[in-house]
Amino acid sequence: MKYIPIIGLEVHVELATESKMFCNCPAEHFGVEPNTHTCPVCLGLPGALPVPNKKALEWTIMLSQALGCKINLESHFDRKNYFYPDLPKGYQITQYERPFGENGGVSLKNQESGIKKIRIRRVHLEEDTGKLQHAEINGESVSLVDFNRSGVPLVEIVTEPDFRSIEEVDEYLKKLQKIIRYLGISNADMEKGSMRIEPSVSIAPISNFKFKTPNLPNYRVELKNINSFRFARKAIDYEIKRQTELLEKGDKIIQQTRGWDDIRNVTVPQREKEKAHDYRYFPEPDIPPIELTGEQVSGIKYQGELPDEKFARFQKDYGLSDYDAGILTENRETADYYEAAVKAANVLVGADREIPLKLWRKMIANQIINKKVNTAETVPAELVKKIVESKKTSEVDEEKLDAAVNEVLNNNSEVVASFKNGKTGVIGFLIGSVKRIVPADPRLIEEKLRKKL
Ligand SMILES: [Zn+2]
Repeated sequence: MKYIPIIGLEVHVELATESKMFCNCPAEHFGVEPNTHTCPVCLGLPGALPVPNKKALEWTIMLSQALGCKINLESHFDRKNYFYPDLPKGYQITQYERPFGENGGVSLKNQESGIKKIRIRRVHLEEDTGKLQHAEINGESVSLVDFNRSGVPLVEIVTEPDFRSIEEVDEYLKKLQKIIRYLGISNADMEKGSMRIEPSVSIAPISNFKFKTPNLPNYRVELKNINSFRFARKAIDYEIKRQTELLEKGDKIIQQTRGWDDIRNVTVPQREKEKAHDYRYFPEPDIPPIELTGEQVSGIKYQGELPDEKFARFQKDYGLSDYDAGILTENRETADYYEAAVKAANVLVGADREIPLKLWRKMIANQIINKKVNTAETVPAELVKKIVESKKTSEVDEEKLDAAVNEVLNNNSEVVASFKNGKTGVIGFLIGSVKRIVPADPRLIEEKLRKKL
């Protein structure tokens, strides 16, 4: 029988606020000496009272809106009760009943099925736990706990089980990371643990998908310990195979949490999955409910362009290809640099009609994409000057160049044929051949060759 994977994602993102969620301790904890950023609040000492971090609230609402969520004007924090040594209070302050954001969605564009929307169930704010480290001291196995991370603001973004392939998961995660970085609310770095993902995986026979609302399986396996995109792909892939084998043998799959073992490349059982009522959630009595007005919410909206909007505008305004626009809008810094360089080109070479503006835009894009320029060291105007200079030194008689291009194309019909068959790499050979006749700028030669080809 053929099965289809059903995947949902929980993504945790640490917010890059200066201080922690409910106290004034610095939120920075990566590479910091253990237990130096702590106080009675984040150590859970008796009598200490939490005070919510305004910035963390605003950023969660900003992210919720960027993900198309409806914002709950009335929300509150809840206590999630469980015992673990990295949780000093014996409960975690989180949002259960009324998250800040609900019912959003993200569109994926690069899938076989075309555009696909992944529904976002909720976006809520909570506090991070401490960190356990298992070590050996004087020949004894010990567990050490570092509370620097305890109380760092953490946003959780939960999707519906809408993913049907690893490729969809991959595109979603990269897109989410890009949006978060555009908003400037976290570096969303998986290696540093500031973005953590927990996929839930189950599989269902293809026959369940005959109808618009498919029957979803009554179990799911939640995967933990994933700290890179690569491990996410491997863990999901392993889990789909494991579950398929079990079902094919006629076995039942149990609902559980499994951890990814990146040494053996397998998932291993951690515990049978808890149900919500095991946590005995109740409203946090130390923090009053949060009430917002519609005006406040629109005031918190991100004012800049989101990645999709910037991408569309780059294509429209600068005539860039999907590929070029994608790389140039990968992050805000590169996009800003590109636009500043195009502006500088308009000013510096505005009267120089020898090269049309469209070609200028493409030349600048090439310089950045092929990393011919160190954008950290060269200001945009400098880049434009460099292109002008390199163009001058390579200025040649157009007629001679055209003749050389024709000559090379005529003499190398086999190479031309293989280029047309998709071996586009051979263009390098043709460029070299033209250059031997007329020592022009290779980019100009390539431009002419491509036009004729
Ligand atoms: Zn503290």
